[in-house]
Amino acid sequence: MDAIAKAEKIVITTHRSPDGDALGSSLALYHFLKRRNKTVKIIVPNSFPYFLKWMPGVREVEIYEYNPSAAQHILKHADLIFSLDYNISKRVGDMGPFLDKSPARKILIDHHLLPGENFDITVSHPEISSTSELLFRLFYQAGRYEELTQAEAECIYCGMMTDTGSFTYNSNDPEVFEIISLLLRKNINKDAIYSQVFDNYSEERFRLLGFTLSQRMEVYPELHSALLYLSKEDQAQFRFSKGDTEGFVNYPLSIKGIFFSTFIREDEDLVKLSFRSQKSFPCNEFAADFFNGGGHLNASGGEFYGSFEEAIHVFKEGLKSYEEKLKNVANNL
Ligand code: 5GP
Ligand code: MN
Repeated sequence: MDAIAKAEKIVITTHRSPDGDALGSSLALYHFLKRRNKTVKIIVPNSFPYFLKWMPGVREVEIYEYNPSAAQHILKHADLIFSLDYNISKRVGDMGPFLDKSPARKILIDHHLLPGENFDITVSHPEISSTSELLFRLFYQAGRYEELTQAEAECIYCGMMTDTGSFTYNSNDPEVFEIISLLLRKNINKDAIYSQVFDNYSEERFRLLGFTLSQRMEVYPELHSALLYLSKEDQAQFRFSKGDTEGFVNYPLSIKGIFFSTFIREDEDLVKLSFRSQKSFPCNEFAADFFNGGGHLNASGGEFYGSFEEAIHVFKEGLKSYEEKLKNVANNL
């Protein structure tokens, strides 16, 4: 709070391909700082999915990729920069070096493992299921709950909801539900928030899901694993729009006996991978070992610079080398 009081020009940043938690925490903090009459900007590396465009304040969000030089100027002249929902500046892509270079004080608020070192203040809690929840806890502990607005509560709720799969994983802490109850007291409509995010998909997205599950899924029962994959061509066929494949990676986990799921998607100039697991299988280790990635124990991601086919090959080889570990996890060893 002291760092905030001293700052005038504040910038909030979050990770590439912002999700509900990245935007939710950024916007909640944005509104909170705006109420303190600060000059605040949110800069995100690239665009975000259409089903997050209802969020209060979302039109104020600046997208680095659309106007890099303007964003670089803002970063350079900021007094204070918040890094929300990511641990190292590599996660903000091309914007990273300008963030590192800025003379501003830097505050990290995040829930990923292994926070980087170039922050003046680091609030890193990997045991907390979302950055939005962590931000709420900080507001609450600073005695600011009473002043929180409905808009701030909506943003925080959205982040908590999306990072826990609508409270189906990482959400056994009773305090999560105490926080939800405190947010509901701010008059939020949690059912409407759910609907805005999950009942707003395009018809193409739904058909793409059907196609992926029926034509682009491989299941390896003996390895308790499954793979989904989509080439650029597949995506074009269904007029892919950003965010359309959000959540696909979770579906194979519903198959009995499957606790490791991977989704490989050919992107513009790279191949993007998403990993999800259940039980103690560390998909962040798998992501780090083969795809220069990381994340949480049960939800991680990575990138591959090479062809789509090569990425699938590397994945399959990686899976073989994890055979013993997968079997041990299945047997609770
Ligand atoms: P998603 O599959 O939803 O894109 O990402 C799931 C989680 O994996 C994110 O919360 C993030 O922590 C992590 N993650 C995604 N992509 C990457 C990546 O390229 N590198 C690292 N280190 N983590 C990632
Ligand atoms: Mn998050």
